[in-house]
Amino acid sequence: MSIERIKTLIIGSGPAGYTAAIYAARADLKPVLYTGMEPGGQLTTTTEVDNFPGYPHGVDGPTMMVELQKQAERFGTEVRIGLVTKVTLSKNKGGIHMVTVDNGKEIEAESIIISTGATAKYLGIPSEERLKGGGVSACAVCDGFFYKGQDVAIVGGGDTAAEEATYLANLCTKVTMIVRKGQMRASKAMQHRVESRENIEVRYFSEIEEVLGKDVVEGVRIVNSKTNEKDDVKVTGLFIAIGHKPNTDIFKGQIEMDDAGYIITKGKTTDTNYPGVFASGDVQDKDYRQAVTAAGTGCMAALDAERYLADIE
Ligand code: NDP
Repeated sequence: MSIERIKTLIIGSGPAGYTAAIYAARADLKPVLYTGMEPGGQLTTTTEVDNFPGYPHGVDGPTMMVELQKQAERFGTEVRIGLVTKVTLSKNKGGIHMVTVDNGKEIEAESIIISTGATAKYLGIPSEERLKGGGVSACAVCDGFFYKGQDVAIVGGGDTAAEEATYLANLCTKVTMIVRKGQMRASKAMQHRVESRENIEVRYFSEIEEVLGKDVVEGVRIVNSKTNEKDDVKVTGLFIAIGHKPNTDIFKGQIEMDDAGYIITKGKTTDTNYPGVFASGDVQDKDYRQAVTAAGTGCMAALDAERYLADIE
């Protein structure tokens, strides 16, 4: 049986993958998109998306992803449910990349767009899991607006937590920032921004033992790791900002990445260190991480793939 040959293989089904698919399909690159384990990506875990241009009344995350899929399919993208489990990439310009799906099916790809995204890290306690979507969020920029005039908590001491705490302080009455060590990892500039806000209270040596509330967040139980003292803080929202993990395990040892595992792209392009392999969305962006920026780089990846394929033909 001959192995299937695909002109443009897109891995991942978030805003980056589907936008790449829309552009690739319209350029007649005959894209095939594999959805991965979480069809629709991170936005399917968000409720309302209010900051994507073109939706004046907002849209809920899962609906937006279904619409993006339909738009990609309208131009001929073939969307397949499946997980890419292995890649063997060619270093040669015009070379064929070998891809395994679901540990079985083999595919040959002339070009690949990696849009596998990143996954927010969570604390991993049962009450947090139960209240995801009920006041526990991993994105202050996405969900902070819903807590306008309310008291919220944010956990983490890195740049993301500091930035998001400041963002929340503009909207919320009070922000309790929960940091597990005696200092923050965030840059000094970010820390100064946090300190300058009167409505942010930083709690050092603090960890969340439990998120309180049955169906919605009503508070957090904080334990001080030095004194072992516990106290309950009333909040309606809890933001987790303890970092993200890019979904790049299958590319390790081949695609060039930074220390945290984010794919390195060249200059203003989506080029990776392999010819014909491009990266778009959160898998190559730890700074912006927005649906609209992911979509933008998805468009760029399709245009880069189109130029590459035209060049080798
Ligand atoms: P980081 O990995 O830098 O920080 C994670 C933070 O979460 C640390 O304070 C860490 O604590 C804490 N943490 C991790 N696990 C737990 C846990 N289980 N319980 C409690 N706390 C926990 O991630 P960020 O997302 O903040 O940043 C990622 C990268 O992106 C960094 O390089 C950052 O500089 C960059 N960035 C830059 C921005 C900018 O320049 N504007 C904005 C946002 C991010 P501990 O310190 O104890 O390990």
